[in-house]
Amino acid sequence: MEYVETLFIGGGLSCLTAAGSLGKDCLVLEKEARPGGLCRSDTTKGFTFDRTGHLLHLRHEKTRALAKELLGPKLAPRSRNTWIYSHGAYTRYPYQSNFHGLPTPVLAECLEGFIKAHCRAQARPGKKDPLRFDRWVLDRFGPGVAKHFMFPYNQKLWTVSPATLTTEWLGRFVPRPDLSSVLRGALEDQTNEEGYNAHFLYPKKGGIEVLVHALARRVKHMRCDAEVVSIDLKKRQLSLRGGETLAFGRLVSSLPLKELVRITRPLPDGLRKAAAKLRAASVYNLNLGIRDPGSDRHWIYLPELKFSIYRFGFSSNFSKHMAPEGAAGVYTEWAYRGRRPDPASMRRKILADLKTIGIIRSAKDILAEKAFDLRVAYTIYDRARGPAVRLIRRHMETRGIHPVGRYGRWEYSSMEDALLQGMEVADMIRDN
Ligand SMILES: Cc1cc2nc3c(=O)[nH]c(=O)nc-3n(C[C@H](O)[C@H](O)[C@H](O)COP(=O)(O)OP(=O)(O)OC[C@H]3O[C@@H](n4cnc5c(N)ncnc54)[C@H](O)[C@@H]3O)c2cc1C
Repeated sequence: MEYVETLFIGGGLSCLTAAGSLGKDCLVLEKEARPGGLCRSDTTKGFTFDRTGHLLHLRHEKTRALAKELLGPKLAPRSRNTWIYSHGAYTRYPYQSNFHGLPTPVLAECLEGFIKAHCRAQARPGKKDPLRFDRWVLDRFGPGVAKHFMFPYNQKLWTVSPATLTTEWLGRFVPRPDLSSVLRGALEDQTNEEGYNAHFLYPKKGGIEVLVHALARRVKHMRCDAEVVSIDLKKRQLSLRGGETLAFGRLVSSLPLKELVRITRPLPDGLRKAAAKLRAASVYNLNLGIRDPGSDRHWIYLPELKFSIYRFGFSSNFSKHMAPEGAAGVYTEWAYRGRRPDPASMRRKILADLKTIGIIRSAKDILAEKAFDLRVAYTIYDRARGPAVRLIRRHMETRGIHPVGRYGRWEYSSMEDALLQGMEVADMIRDN
């Protein structure tokens, strides 16, 4: 039986970064025919489609240096051109500081609510933020923003009620504008740079998978079509689909934490019970190649419940090479939980959404399509998540199994976080 000092489960960004940095004595096992996980891109009829929009927002010097080393001039810088479509109007992102353009009654409701929430917060300095997301939204932005954006949008994306969600995922993802920015954004069309995603990098050609190829070139040993189906902690062995067994010194796993628990033996019952509480939303991502509707927008949020999708965007506005001349690439995102709705009926509703918004006139405008079903897309931040993740990680890590990446750690994080975690894991292994 082959022995490998460090085995990596999964060929996504996190494990590729770590394995590429370590070099020797390690092997990446990837279940699919090619690495990349969520960062793969597929080309059909001249259109290149990512698994929904995948844009690089790099805040750290380390990751900027890595991106430069890997791709250099192959990456193009872009400035966000992002909107919300509601009440038949486009308003700028983020919603909470750009009420300009909303119908007057909605604008007044949002502004009045924000001002009252601001005054209440001023009167109670030092008040702790609530852990419940719905209460946090009402405290911070008031009932207008809650009703017209935060509640319905987050309900659609996370597939659970805002009262179920905690605030643990907010971090940099939800901008908190001050009063003057909100007032300005209510009175005029302001272009501001609020939020973590005001600027981003995107490959000039080839979609986001170009980054995967650059990372994979640094990895010495990788096997694709190698699905890990069981892990024996006592024998320190794992089995692949097909029956082959490999022995390891340590494991780095980017497979979803819940799945890691499912395939690992022996584990205490408490750990399995904790894993059973972990929930995730899936995303059905229908990509379309269409006749160019002439939009220069990057992506658009759809908070209203009358639309099935929560967001769509134009991949050909990230890079013109994502679509042939005269055409545009559009990605749409529909979140669901549990059993996947029927794809044909989802497609009908998605096309109806795009028609209502004026992106297509009829199905005749569709030149190509490609759907991806992302089974584990958003790990749900309810009250059970934090304690369960901590318990499972502690148990695994003390036994030389290191969960890494967005799903390994069962968190809401980005490609940059996957790169950073990959680098940290490699450092940790080198130091031991
Ligand atoms: C809808 C959506 C939009 C996003 N948009 C952005 C964005 O714009 N910008 C951004 O920075 N981030 C974005 N992200 C997040 C980004 O995709 C992730 O942070 C990143 O891809 C995670 O990489 P990873 O290596 O942790 O995991 P993954 O990409 O999930 O890689 C895990 C790998 O493990 C493999 N695997 C699974 N099970 C097994 C097994 N049993 N045996 C062997 N291999 C296995 C999988 O095939 C996969 O290749 C988005 C995510 C979603 C869901």
